[in-house]
Order: sequence, then structure tokens, then C-alpha cells
Amino acid sequence: YAKAHGSNHHQFHEPGMTAAAAERLHLENDLREALRRAEFELHYQPILDTRSLQVLGVEALLRWHHPEEGMIPPDRFIPLAEETGLIRPMGAWVLQTACAQAARWRELGMALSVSVNVSGEQFFGDELPRAVRDALARHRLPPEALTLEITESTLMHGSLNIEARLDDFKAIGVRLSLDDFGTGYSSLSYLKRFPIDTLKIDKSFVRDMVTDEHDRTLANTVIAMGHGLSLAVVAEGVESAEHMPLLRQAGCDRVQGYHFSRPLPARKLTEWLRAFRGNTASGPDGGTTGA
Ligand code: C2E
Ligand code: MG
Ligand code: MG
Ligand code: MG
Repeated sequence: YAKAHGSNHHQFHEPGMTAAAAERLHLENDLREALRRAEFELHYQPILDTRSLQVLGVEALLRWHHPEEGMIPPDRFIPLAEETGLIRPMGAWVLQTACAQAARWRELGMALSVSVNVSGEQFFGDELPRAVRDALARHRLPPEALTLEITESTLMHGSLNIEARLDDFKAIGVRLSLDDFGTGYSSLSYLKRFPIDTLKIDKSFVRDMVTDEHDRTLANTVIAMGHGLSLAVVAEGVESAEHMPLLRQAGCDRVQGYHFSRPLPARKLTEWLRAFRGNTASGPDGGTTGA
């Protein structure tokens, strides 16, 4: 059995292995090497205030530039990274890199908060609270500049120490956001019990709310419920200008989506931020400081 490594692992897999299993093994081996070979990159997507369109923060989204297969989307390798435990070193890299970038933006006068996705495996790992504290200290970031995005399935993990873990993060002072809201098994009592700051309405409801009355109702209901629980609500998957009056009317606090920008490499996002500021400037400096 070839626990293969290096460049010759393509040839080795068990006879009779299905193509899917072989492909998985191949990907898993490559994933093990990817950090060392610096094949990961973070892209950043802006999160804006729905009314003022001020850019409040960015979400860091992981990209894998595979040497042979090109860009592999996170939905294809994150689940594998979770199963193999590789998510922990990867997650540590994401946290450090995102905090370093947030600090760089601060030096440029752009006080953006940064949101980092944390998978269940990582969330319950022993090292995360310390890694978060270290990353904040190393990059001299105030804790409220960092948001951890977790999903409903992480909360529903059934782990006994979930409340203790959530309290660890509240004690550090970072923000907690519930991602993909509406797609998991939402036990609404969790929202009341856990110290979550923000709900992100899943893009599957947001995307079609312009054309689908039922999706619009769901989105409006999630926004109203979030506000009833004193949570800020973010709509992700805002793809068109037509979304904006609907989301404003519903009182949605923040928006994120292709309508504003796709996730971009840091340098490109910095350019985008400057141009966007220039276009929407209403402040006294007219957004021309080039800060
Ligand atoms: P997510 O956290 O819900 O991130 C939002 C996803 O929606 C991103 O996909 C983003 O590119 C996409 N998106 C943003 N705006 C729009 C839009 O207007 N329309 C559409 N159709 N899509 C939009 P992406 O980058 O492929 O990431 C997929 C998922 O992979 C993320 O979903 C997150 O769950 C996971 N992921 C990404 N980076 C990380 C990471 O560093 N760690 C962990 N654990 N998970 C990550
Ligand atoms: Mg997210
Ligand atoms: Mg999401
Ligand atoms: Mg997700």
C-alpha cells in the first residue's frame, strides 16, 4: 500500500480502488504538502454596511493553487482537510495570515475587521484559543477586529464543552458569527443560549430573494429574528443591485457578495477599496487621501 509522497504518488493506489477513492487519496497526499509548498493563498471579500456602504470588514477565504490541477475550490478540499486533521495546521496558517493582513491594512489607515472561517474540527481543538490570542498579540490587533465564523453544524456538534469554548472566545473579545444560517439544523434555542454576535443568512436564500417570494420571506424572517435576539445580520450572496432596496427595507445590517466584489487577493482588494472609496466618498476628504 503506497502511503506515497513526492511526485510519484499518482501511480500508486490499491488495485480495485474506485476512481473516486484514488482521486481522494491523491488529493489528500497533495494537501499534506500544500502548506509546506506555500500553495495556499487567502482571498478577501468586503463586507459593507447596508445603508452607508462603508466597508466594515472582509472575509478571508482560502484558495489552493494546485501545481497541476490549478485552483481547487475550498468546498473540494476543506471537508478532506477536516477528516484528516490537516485543517488544524491549515487553520492556524489562515488565522496568522489573515491577522497579518488586517494589521497591514491598519497601517494603511484602513481599519477593517477580518472574518475567518473556522471548521468544527478546528473549533474544538485545544490549540485554537491560544492561537487566536497569539495572532492578535503578534499583530497588535484589538480582539474586536477579528471575527470567527462558525456554522450551525459546529454548534450542534453535541460537544459538551461548546459553551466553555464559546466563553473562551468571548473572554478574549473576538466576535462570533454564525455562517450559512438557515441551511443547518437550526435549533433556535441555540441562538438564545450562545454568545453569538452576528448571523449570516445563507446565500441560497439571498440569491433568489429578488425573484422568489418565498426566499424573500425567509430572508426577511431571519433578519427580523436576528434583530429580535440583538444580533447583527449579514446577507451573503448579494449578487445584484436589485437586492439592495429589499435588504435595506428589511433592515439587514450588512451585505457581502459579487455585486460589490468577488473575493480578491490582498493587493487587488486594497486597490478595490481605494477605488470604491473614491466612488462613494461622501466624507470631507472626498476619499482622495489615498491612505
Ligand atoms: P462561506 O464561509 O459561506 O463563504 C462564502 C462563500 O460564498 C465563498 O465561497 C464566496 O466566494 C462565495 N460568495 C461570495 N459572494 C457570493 C455571491 O454573490 N454569489 C455566490 N454565488 N457566491 C458568493 P468559497 O470561497 O468557495 O468558500 C466556500 C466555503 O469554504 C466557505 O463558505 C467556507 O465554509 C469554506 N472556507 C473557505 N475558506 C475557509 C477557511 O479558511 N477555513 C475553513 N474552515 N473553511 C473555509
Ligand atoms: Mg464564511
Ligand atoms: Mg456562508
Ligand atoms: Mg460555508
